[in-house]
Amino acid sequence: FNVVEKSNLKNASAPDNFDDVTYPLVEDFYTIQGEGAHTGRPAYFIRTAGCDVNCWWCDVQESWDEEAHPSHKVGDIVQRAQASGAEFAVITGGEPLLHNLDPLTHRLKEAGLKTHIETSGSSPLSGHLDWVTLSPKRFKEPLDEAFPHVDELKVVVLTTKDLEYAEKNAAKCPDKTQLLLQPEWEKEGAVELIIEYVKEHPEWGISLQTHKFMGVR
Ligand code: SF4
Repeated sequence: FNVVEKSNLKNASAPDNFDDVTYPLVEDFYTIQGEGAHTGRPAYFIRTAGCDVNCWWCDVQESWDEEAHPSHKVGDIVQRAQASGAEFAVITGGEPLLHNLDPLTHRLKEAGLKTHIETSGSSPLSGHLDWVTLSPKRFKEPLDEAFPHVDELKVVVLTTKDLEYAEKNAAKCPDKTQLLLQPEWEKEGAVELIIEYVKEHPEWGISLQTHKFMGVR
């Protein structure tokens, strides 16, 4: 893993106080990573509240309003993650980069968990990150500073326009990046479109939302 040490400490307390820093959370729970390069691996999911991207097809719209969700202390989140037995945490949202992730990721790594993030890349990077999944959204484009740190590019596809958008973003990613196309769950024809595209462009793979098949969150 490449660890991103992209600290942005100006809004955070001193390291000794990291346990008392709070984040608004929609939920945190132990489950199976259902999509992307780490599909099928158990992971502790931390879903932060707040998103300013406004994808019209978003399936976690309840996460958008930060004020609607309770704050949780880093110390408590990390304790739950560690007790779960997970080897890695997936910080997702919402848009997790609306928050400074330094305190949370610092403490997770101290507790022995790898730190993964799923982000649109549209807010400044922060945190000590082992795996960065960029899921770019044209409603609020990724910042250029995000691209050098991308381990996995996962583009949601509804139509052929999204394939062009995927290529545009892939061109900015490091060569090692895993390139994945993910059909929008409810869009008829999206799976067939991706299958044909990947057969002709084998540098891409397919990410399916297998947690929906498995019936887990
Ligand atoms: Fe929903 Fe993610 Fe889009 Fe935010 S970035 S609106 S959480 S799909």
